[in-house]
Amino acid sequence: MRKLKILVILSILLIPLSSLLALDIIDIPLSPKNIFNLNKGKKEIIITIDDGPTPGVTDIILDELKNQNIQAAFFVIGQKAEKNPELMARISDEGHIIGNHTLTHPILTKLDPSNWKQILNGEFFGTHQKIETYFNQQREWYFRAPGGAWESKLAQYLNQDPIGLRYLGPLYWDIGGEILYSNGKYLSAADWDCWRKNLSVHQCLEGYSNETVKFKGGVILFHDVRKESAELITEYIKSFKKLGYSFKTLDDIQL
Ligand SMILES: [Zn+2]
Repeated sequence: MRKLKILVILSILLIPLSSLLALDIIDIPLSPKNIFNLNKGKKEIIITIDDGPTPGVTDIILDELKNQNIQAAFFVIGQKAEKNPELMARISDEGHIIGNHTLTHPILTKLDPSNWKQILNGEFFGTHQKIETYFNQQREWYFRAPGGAWESKLAQYLNQDPIGLRYLGPLYWDIGGEILYSNGKYLSAADWDCWRKNLSVHQCLEGYSNETVKFKGGVILFHDVRKESAELITEYIKSFKKLGYSFKTLDDIQL
């Protein structure tokens, strides 16, 4: 009788625990807030490249990553992915992670309130359909919101779908968010804004470098839209390899 009691108590305790653990492993829902502070302080750099693929730019970046034996994550725009299947195949074949960055890059917190669900469906799941065939053996399916704009109702809505639930994100970045200039020095930089403001690759690199050293590494944001970014990435990798930093992927870090 006593044995039975213990068994009953044990099973009550264990069954919910095991099912919770299983849920944790299979479904990490999209977060109601951006996921910040991804991997600072370890002298490890995780390169993420957004808004492509772009012919004449992504190819050059892929060449350089291959030369340096570095794996990156490409958060692609669905419409561009559809137009550039060769680049998508190359990103995938060369072992990089492919992430969902929506179909047309809208600011998701500013969608038309009368039909935001329908638009979000097309932007998120429409992109998933276009990119899933290129997914590698990547541990997770990753999502990054355009401009980092996010709110909890978007996560709640997408998590109702098993595909949305399977995604991890939205992933923010540690380095590369904005240009900060003080006392004659670039303390940080964001490549898209560097080119918009006619900064040189050298000036932009100074910002990226100072921010990387300040945080001792982390998840870094570049864009594969303009050629200058390809040059910037090349110089950046060279410089941080010399400084003894190692290059990791999103799959390598604990998120
Ligand atoms: Zn973007």
